[in-house]
Amino acid sequence: MLCDTLWSGMRVKARGKEIKMSKFEGFQCVVCGSKEEPVDTGFRPRDNKNAFNVKCAECGHNQIFPYMTMEEYSEAYNEGTTFKSEEIKIAEGADVETARVKWKEWNAKHIEMYYDRMQQHRHVLDLGSGFGFFEESLNRMEGNHFTIEGVEIGQYRLDAYVGGVVHNVNFSEEKAPENMEGRYDLIISMHLLEHLYDPVSFLCNIKPLFAPGGECIFEVPNHDCFLKELSKEYADFSYLKEHISNYDKNSLRLVFERAGYRVKKVYTREIYSLENHLNWIRNGKPFIKYNQMYMPDERLEFLNDLYHEYVEKMDKGYSLIIEASLE
Ligand SMILES: [Zn+2]
Repeated sequence: MLCDTLWSGMRVKARGKEIKMSKFEGFQCVVCGSKEEPVDTGFRPRDNKNAFNVKCAECGHNQIFPYMTMEEYSEAYNEGTTFKSEEIKIAEGADVETARVKWKEWNAKHIEMYYDRMQQHRHVLDLGSGFGFFEESLNRMEGNHFTIEGVEIGQYRLDAYVGGVVHNVNFSEEKAPENMEGRYDLIISMHLLEHLYDPVSFLCNIKPLFAPGGECIFEVPNHDCFLKELSKEYADFSYLKEHISNYDKNSLRLVFERAGYRVKKVYTREIYSLENHLNWIRNGKPFIKYNQMYMPDERLEFLNDLYHEYVEKMDKGYSLIIEASLE
């Protein structure tokens, strides 16, 4: 609040004329490149009250401004501070084993979501594979028609990697290494794109990875999710300094189109439970039990199914998903 007041009150005199300085000096939209003064949405990242969630005046994309520099970002990823701060906030003394338990249901859910699609392909690549828990679960399954490899840049995660083959390539800055070129017929990425300061270049840099006729599925948090409408506390909680972009259907499509992809489908999936949503409304905080995904009694799961169906019909699920290809 202080910073806001300071900036809006700051005025300079140029050639005898008073000019109000914008608190968004230096802004550039990460999707369309517009430098036009963005709209302040009133939301701040919960872990950096000196930044703003702003909406691009040109394309309507929501992003954080100012965002972390590349150096700060690399440091945070290499040391795992982003992981540690998130985990430790939830559970004191958290470590990789705790993370495995925490991500168990999340991974099971995503295997359920994408398994059939993976089975249609031979070589799957997961961009931003973290500790490799998703790969670890898949590698233990029998009857897979595909192999899966990961890509991860955080040294903290690489040191503890459990998912088998992993490539340490930062596609925000690097081109595809030769041994990865033309190899993958399905590229999956879950909750990575929102962290990137130049998503268009990233999407261009990964193009050589695709096998002929290959496709990709990218999942990000949905800026237009229903829970934000239901709970002001959740809306405040949902903005993070690491999430440079807060995509909605339009801006997610736009970023792929700008990178020259053919967009096949954009849709949402609700991952969290009705109980979790009710808890946000009643108590202003997440319902941690059952990994926020299930009802307290299995016999009530049908309510969850109905609720998810309803939310997804409105395109307001937690996860926003895009399917695209090069041709
Ligand atoms: Zn824009």
